[in-house]
Amino acid sequence: MSILNFTPAVGDTAFTSLQQELLSKAQQLGKDCFAPRAPHWDVTATFPLANYDDLRAAGILRMCVPAAHGGLGADYATYMMTGAEIGRYCGATALTLNMHICSTMWTGVLSDGIAMTADQQAEHHARRHLHFKRIVEKGALYAQPFSEGTAAAAGRAPFGTAARKSVQNGVSGWVINGRKIWASLSGAANYYGILCTEDIEGKNPDPRDTLYIAVPAESEGLTISGDWNPMGMRGTVSRNLTFKDVFVPDDEQLMPRGVYFKAAQTWPAMFFTLAPTYLGIANAAYDFTVKYLRGEVEGEPPVKRRQYPTKQIAVAQMRIQLENMRSIFLRAITEAKPNPSKDEKLRLYAAHYSVMEGANDIARLAIRTCGGQSMMKHLPLERLYRDSRCGSLMLPWTAELVMDRMGRETLYEPGEKDDS
Ligand SMILES: Cc1cc2nc3c(=O)[nH]c(=O)nc-3n(C[C@H](O)[C@H](O)[C@H](O)COP(=O)(O)OP(=O)(O)OC[C@H]3O[C@@H](n4cnc5c(N)ncnc54)[C@H](O)[C@@H]3O)c2cc1C
Repeated sequence: MSILNFTPAVGDTAFTSLQQELLSKAQQLGKDCFAPRAPHWDVTATFPLANYDDLRAAGILRMCVPAAHGGLGADYATYMMTGAEIGRYCGATALTLNMHICSTMWTGVLSDGIAMTADQQAEHHARRHLHFKRIVEKGALYAQPFSEGTAAAAGRAPFGTAARKSVQNGVSGWVINGRKIWASLSGAANYYGILCTEDIEGKNPDPRDTLYIAVPAESEGLTISGDWNPMGMRGTVSRNLTFKDVFVPDDEQLMPRGVYFKAAQTWPAMFFTLAPTYLGIANAAYDFTVKYLRGEVEGEPPVKRRQYPTKQIAVAQMRIQLENMRSIFLRAITEAKPNPSKDEKLRLYAAHYSVMEGANDIARLAIRTCGGQSMMKHLPLERLYRDSRCGSLMLPWTAELVMDRMGRETLYEPGEKDDS
């Protein structure tokens, strides 16, 4: 068992020393800085820049950069645990951190598990060094805008944003045209890691030709637009991006041609990285409920509500659901790997669904149980409730699409069809 003096959002298990270090840092930053600041980002719908200064100083922005490139070399499970701990104190910070961390994890540990030719590997190693260096030496922040409001982000159509090969002023690169919606970190990121389709003359757009490219924030032709006034996760500032003949050099490719398509098929757990934020939120709603019913919330009258059997039962229900979420989450992050078995993949879907829907269930029960005064805006519960609803909406694994995949993939083996 761990030697931590607190139970992390992921639950208790045998943590490595790096996991203990990162969980402790996340907890301390979360309690001292992120939780007190969270209402501000929510009310003003602004990006949590001050939290990012803290994360940068704590080394967390480079946690998944391989040690050989100056990072902490944290693996998938370590990130997932740390993300959940941050989500316990500020959902918007955890969710946007996920976009940044994935830019390092997909190019790092995930890519290492994908079959590439020797040429692709050499190209990838040279280019990712450049990206890691920006993060390690300059503290650069990467976003992941994929969504376009079509079936592309669900993995059911090619991305409409297109990249055409071009040479400009003697530099080989890509000219990008298109539009992304829901770009978390818009205006705050230094680089936007977009998915787009290679525009090949005479060939219809094909998901196999998906490219993963970093577009520097100051690129000519890149604009940010749209209002930002959502129900929840307001600090993510997820506005629209338009690319009009944006030129980027070849070095901005985050993966060699064709590798993203393989990655999405090989490493399904890459899409589970949105879940830790919501496990954190579920913990926060539970933690608050226990404190509130005991009459121990700072600044509130010390009114105890714990004596009512109905409230005791609701707390028990919340704890049972939280323990189930922690268990399946922990199991899924421990067995995450390239080419999981059918059983492991179905469990991964189940874990994703359980966390995304479960977070909202727990937040809903928390408000019902704590009662009317608990949903006042000066307390965190109503924000947790709003934020908790957002997880199930996120592509490619929305709650609906997870159910769709689970049912189909349980009943059909790959390639199997019905006669009529
Ligand atoms: C807080 C927040 C932050 C976000 N940040 C980012 C970000 O940084 N980068 C990014 O790329 N995206 C981001 N997203 C967007 C997110 O991943 C989804 O793309 C978005 O929520 C989808 O909204 P939509 O209205 O386009 O839904 P639609 O695409 O219209 O989907 C509506 C529903 O239909 C279902 N559906 C969609 N496509 C299919 C299909 N082909 N087959 C069957 N059912 C389908 C899904 O279950 C979905 O719930 C963010 C979303 C939220 C809520």
